Amino acid sequence: MGKLDDLFIKAKDLAGMAGNKAQEMAELTKLRLQAAQLRSDLDANYLKMGEIVYELKKANTENEDLIGMCIAEIDAQHKELDELNQRINDLKNEVKCPECMASNPKEALYCSRCGALLTRPVETAGLTVVPGGKDETPEAEEDVVETVETVEVVSQPESEGND
Ligand SMILES: [Zn+2]
Repeated sequence: MGKLDDLFIKAKDLAGMAGNKAQEMAELTKLRLQAAQLRSDLDANYLKMGEIVYELKKANTENEDLIGMCIAEIDAQHKELDELNQRINDLKNEVKCPECMASNPKEALYCSRCGALLTRPVETAGLTVVPGGKDETPEAEEDVVETVETVEVVSQPESEGND
Protein backbone atom coordinates (compact mmCIF):
# COMPACT_ATOMS: atom_id res chain seq x y z
CA MET A 1 0.00 0.00 0.00
CA GLY A 2 1.90 2.99 -1.23
CA LYS A 3 -0.65 5.54 -0.14
CA LEU A 4 1.91 7.82 1.39
CA ASP A 5 4.27 7.36 -1.51
CA ASP A 6 1.47 8.35 -3.76
CA LEU A 7 0.90 11.47 -1.74
CA PHE A 8 4.54 12.35 -1.91
CA ILE A 9 4.49 11.96 -5.64
CA LYS A 10 1.51 14.26 -5.81
CA ALA A 11 3.22 16.85 -3.68
CA LYS A 12 6.33 16.65 -5.78
CA ASP A 13 4.30 16.94 -8.92
CA LEU A 14 2.65 19.94 -7.44
CA ALA A 15 5.99 21.56 -6.87
CA GLY A 16 7.09 20.76 -10.38
CA MET A 17 4.09 22.45 -11.84
CA ALA A 18 5.42 25.78 -10.75
CA GLY A 19 7.99 25.61 -13.52
CA ASN A 20 7.45 29.20 -14.40
CA LYS A 21 10.58 30.76 -15.62
CA ALA A 22 11.19 34.20 -14.41
CA GLN A 23 8.90 36.46 -16.33
CA GLU A 24 11.22 37.55 -19.03
CA MET A 25 8.53 38.24 -21.54
CA ALA A 26 6.93 41.50 -20.83
CA GLU A 27 4.57 41.74 -23.71
CA LEU A 28 1.05 42.11 -22.55
CA THR A 29 -0.30 39.17 -24.46
CA LYS A 30 2.37 36.92 -23.17
CA LEU A 31 1.83 38.15 -19.65
CA ARG A 32 -1.85 37.50 -19.99
CA LEU A 33 -1.20 34.02 -21.24
CA GLN A 34 1.13 33.40 -18.38
CA ALA A 35 -1.40 34.68 -15.92
CA ALA A 36 -4.07 32.42 -17.33
CA GLN A 37 -1.70 29.48 -17.22
CA LEU A 38 -0.74 30.30 -13.67
CA ARG A 39 -4.34 30.55 -12.65
CA SER A 40 -5.13 27.11 -13.96
CA ASP A 41 -1.99 25.76 -12.31
CA LEU A 42 -3.24 27.24 -9.09
CA ASP A 43 -6.61 25.64 -9.53
CA ALA A 44 -4.98 22.29 -10.17
CA ASN A 45 -2.80 22.70 -7.12
CA TYR A 46 -5.73 23.55 -4.89
CA LEU A 47 -7.39 20.44 -6.16
CA LYS A 48 -4.32 18.38 -5.48
CA MET A 49 -3.92 19.81 -2.02
CA GLY A 50 -7.53 18.99 -1.32
CA GLU A 51 -6.90 15.44 -2.39
CA ILE A 52 -3.88 15.20 -0.18
CA VAL A 53 -5.70 16.59 2.84
CA TYR A 54 -8.58 14.29 2.12
CA GLU A 55 -6.39 11.22 1.95
CA LEU A 56 -4.50 12.18 5.06
CA LYS A 57 -7.64 12.77 7.06
CA LYS A 58 -9.16 9.62 5.80
CA ALA A 59 -6.11 7.65 6.81
CA ASN A 60 -6.32 9.42 10.12
CA THR A 61 -2.81 10.73 9.77
CA GLU A 62 -1.23 14.09 9.65
CA ASN A 63 1.69 15.25 7.64
CA GLU A 64 2.56 18.84 8.23
CA ASP A 65 5.47 18.62 5.83
CA LEU A 66 3.27 17.65 2.95
CA ILE A 67 0.72 20.31 3.72
CA GLY A 68 3.50 22.80 4.19
CA MET A 69 4.86 21.97 0.77
CA CYS A 70 1.48 22.51 -0.79
CA ILE A 71 0.91 25.80 0.95
CA ALA A 72 4.36 27.10 0.12
CA GLU A 73 3.88 26.20 -3.51
CA ILE A 74 0.48 27.80 -3.72
CA ASP A 75 1.69 30.90 -1.93
CA ALA A 76 4.56 31.23 -4.34
CA GLN A 77 2.20 30.98 -7.26
CA HIS A 78 -0.12 33.54 -5.76
CA LYS A 79 2.77 35.90 -5.38
CA GLU A 80 3.82 35.31 -8.94
CA LEU A 81 0.31 35.85 -10.15
CA ASP A 82 0.10 39.11 -8.26
CA GLU A 83 3.30 40.29 -9.86
CA LEU A 84 2.05 39.28 -13.27
CA ASN A 85 -1.18 41.15 -12.79
CA GLN A 86 0.73 44.14 -11.57
CA ARG A 87 2.85 44.19 -14.69
CA ILE A 88 -0.15 43.64 -16.89
CA ASN A 89 -1.82 46.66 -15.36
CA ASP A 90 1.31 48.69 -15.74
CA LEU A 91 1.58 47.80 -19.39
CA LYS A 92 -2.08 48.39 -20.01
CA ASN A 93 -2.18 51.82 -18.50
CA GLU A 94 1.24 53.16 -19.03
CA VAL A 95 0.93 54.86 -22.35
CA LYS A 96 1.17 58.50 -21.57
CA CYS A 97 0.78 61.26 -24.04
CA PRO A 98 4.13 62.90 -24.69
CA GLU A 99 2.40 66.23 -25.20
CA CYS A 100 -0.08 66.55 -22.37
CA MET A 101 0.86 63.58 -20.20
CA ALA A 102 -2.68 62.24 -20.19
CA SER A 103 -2.95 58.49 -19.69
CA ASN A 104 -4.32 56.59 -22.61
CA PRO A 105 -5.17 52.96 -23.12
CA LYS A 106 -2.27 51.08 -24.55
CA GLU A 107 -4.10 50.39 -27.79
CA ALA A 108 -4.69 54.05 -28.45
CA LEU A 109 -2.90 55.53 -31.40
CA TYR A 110 -3.76 59.09 -30.58
CA CYS A 111 -4.16 60.89 -27.30
CA SER A 112 -7.79 61.11 -26.30
CA ARG A 113 -7.26 64.55 -24.84
CA CYS A 114 -5.08 66.42 -27.26
CA GLY A 115 -4.89 64.13 -30.25
CA ALA A 116 -1.15 63.80 -30.34
CA LEU A 117 0.32 60.67 -31.85
CA LEU A 118 1.19 58.22 -29.11
CA THR A 119 4.40 56.30 -29.32
CA ARG A 120 3.89 52.61 -29.01
CA PRO A 121 6.83 51.19 -27.13
CA VAL A 122 6.24 47.45 -26.98
CA GLU A 123 4.85 46.32 -30.26
CA THR A 124 6.81 48.51 -32.61
CA ALA A 125 10.14 46.94 -31.85
CA GLY A 126 11.08 47.45 -35.49
CA LEU A 127 10.47 51.16 -35.53
CA THR A 128 12.66 51.93 -32.63
CA VAL A 129 12.64 55.62 -31.96
CA VAL A 130 16.21 55.92 -30.93
CA PRO A 131 17.27 59.32 -32.22
CA GLY A 132 20.65 58.64 -33.74
CA GLY A 133 21.73 56.83 -30.65
CA LYS A 134 23.59 53.63 -30.07
CA ASP A 135 22.56 50.56 -31.92
CA GLU A 136 19.73 48.76 -30.28
CA THR A 137 20.77 46.10 -27.84
CA PRO A 138 18.87 42.89 -28.48
CA GLU A 139 18.93 42.08 -24.78
CA ALA A 140 16.80 45.09 -24.15
CA GLU A 141 13.84 43.08 -25.32
CA GLU A 142 13.69 41.41 -21.97
CA ASP A 143 13.31 44.65 -20.14
CA VAL A 144 10.36 45.99 -22.00
CA VAL A 145 8.91 47.44 -18.85
CA GLU A 146 11.92 49.65 -18.48
CA THR A 147 11.80 50.45 -22.14
CA VAL A 148 8.33 51.81 -21.66
CA GLU A 149 9.64 54.33 -19.21
CA THR A 150 12.46 55.21 -21.52
CA VAL A 151 10.17 55.88 -24.42
CA GLU A 152 8.27 58.33 -22.30
CA VAL A 153 11.36 60.43 -22.04
CA VAL A 154 12.27 60.23 -25.68
CA SER A 155 10.06 62.78 -27.29
CA GLN A 156 9.15 61.71 -30.74
CA PRO A 157 10.94 63.45 -33.54
CA GLU A 158 7.94 64.97 -35.23
CA SER A 159 9.49 67.41 -37.60
CA GLU A 160 6.73 69.30 -39.27
CA GLY A 161 8.53 72.49 -38.55
CA ASN A 162 6.37 75.24 -40.01
CA ASP A 163 8.07 77.89 -38.04
ZN1 LIG B 1 -2.26 64.42 -25.14
